[in-house]
Amino acid sequence: MGSAGEEQEKKTEGQILSEKLFSSRKNSWDSFSAGDEEEIARFAEEYKQFLDRGKTEREFTAASLDLLRKAGFADIEARLDGGGNFRPGDRLYQANRGKSLICAVIGKEPAVAGVNILGAHVDSPRIDLKSNPLYEESELALLDTQYYGGIKNYQWAAIPLAVHGVVIREDGAKVEITIGEDEGDPVFTITDLLPHLAREQMQKKASEAVAGEDLNILAGSKPYKDSKAKDKVKLNLLSILNKKYGIVEQDFCGAEFEFVPAFKARDLGFDRSMIGGYGHDDRCCAYPAMRAVLDIAAGEAPAKTAVVVLTDKEEIGSAGNTGAQSRFFENFIAYILSKSGGQYSDLALRRALDNSSMLSADVNSAFDPNYDGFYDKKNASAFGRGIVLTKYTGGSGKGGCSEANAEFCCRVQAVLNRNNIPWQTGDLGKVDKGGGGTIAKYVANLGVEVLDCGIAVLSMHSPFEVISKADLYTTYRGYMAFLREI
Ligand code: MN
Ligand code: MN
Repeated sequence: MGSAGEEQEKKTEGQILSEKLFSSRKNSWDSFSAGDEEEIARFAEEYKQFLDRGKTEREFTAASLDLLRKAGFADIEARLDGGGNFRPGDRLYQANRGKSLICAVIGKEPAVAGVNILGAHVDSPRIDLKSNPLYEESELALLDTQYYGGIKNYQWAAIPLAVHGVVIREDGAKVEITIGEDEGDPVFTITDLLPHLAREQMQKKASEAVAGEDLNILAGSKPYKDSKAKDKVKLNLLSILNKKYGIVEQDFCGAEFEFVPAFKARDLGFDRSMIGGYGHDDRCCAYPAMRAVLDIAAGEAPAKTAVVVLTDKEEIGSAGNTGAQSRFFENFIAYILSKSGGQYSDLALRRALDNSSMLSADVNSAFDPNYDGFYDKKNASAFGRGIVLTKYTGGSGKGGCSEANAEFCCRVQAVLNRNNIPWQTGDLGKVDKGGGGTIAKYVANLGVEVLDCGIAVLSMHSPFEVISKADLYTTYRGYMAFLREI
């Protein structure tokens, strides 16, 4: 603390020059008014509810579709045959197999001049079932699993899990099974060895302490009442499922059962400045992106067509027909072009993509003082410092990443500065400590300018990830500004 006399002291030339030349890293909470803080708190409440409702890619997509339909967005497929061209302000969406979606508000400029895109993913690391999962061992019913995405296995043992399943029965009926989310529901768990007997386990590498093959879910322990039947605990479990859902063991093999943490998103900290929850990566970017496009839809038509795409399968490489490597995104732009007046051609599509801009709306690893040796503090993102711009991802030596071009980075920074939106840079950890990627490179390969831009997360990919409420709100404002002004 300085004395009053010091505060009045005239700034030296060097101090003035420092203020002009040095980039500053400020905590955005310092600059928020009481009104801002109310907005931040309200946005966080809405987000937490949405997060609890959308714990899987299917659920998040369905919840997003509800919002879009309520806001007057129409299915683009229904508008393709017949009818006139799309007009500025038109609101359109396309759902892809219930697992990913894309939506747009048509802009005043023709689509061939490029569109502005926010792209986030709505899948998160979790525990899936194998094709033939159910077995009985020592009078316990267990479910064999295959994990989905990059997890630390040991983090998923000894916590309550909920199941979110979709089964298509042989008669074609679609059965949705969600157990573990309501207060009165039972939950599931993966057991762990007690410390008393864990001397050997504790000597193992963390990656081997709980082996992937041992991530078996405890699902039942009560035998079916019949002295002659075999595997009675398994039988009892199947009998319960059959009575309630009409399914038999064979129905597991094509089904999608996803086990996720059973707890809900919660305020975190004495000051309630953070949110702890499952699946912030990447729903903490997907939700602000959705809110941004809904706000655009409610206002005057944007200059350029505003697009939000929510993709699936990012955590396992973005492959498949619901992932960012599929033609889904390109096709949607082609649909828009085909209804924009003028002759549709492949060349027009290529030009539209070349002229387009995207924020790959994905999370960044926040600096963690508990693990400071793994971060370069000067280049790590931090809580409260605003939306994170990540010029490049990849592993060692930028391997395999899509690096945003300097010209595009500068344009994005200018938009954020113009709108007084706090932003920071965030590189992923120290050089050669590891790496990661996003959907950025797949869209960049189509010719689109892409920059990774999202929220700093602590405990990323764990069952309970943490974000800052300030950053969540700042990111929403940043996405809005991008869609309107880039
Ligand atoms: Mn992500
Ligand atoms: Mn991830």
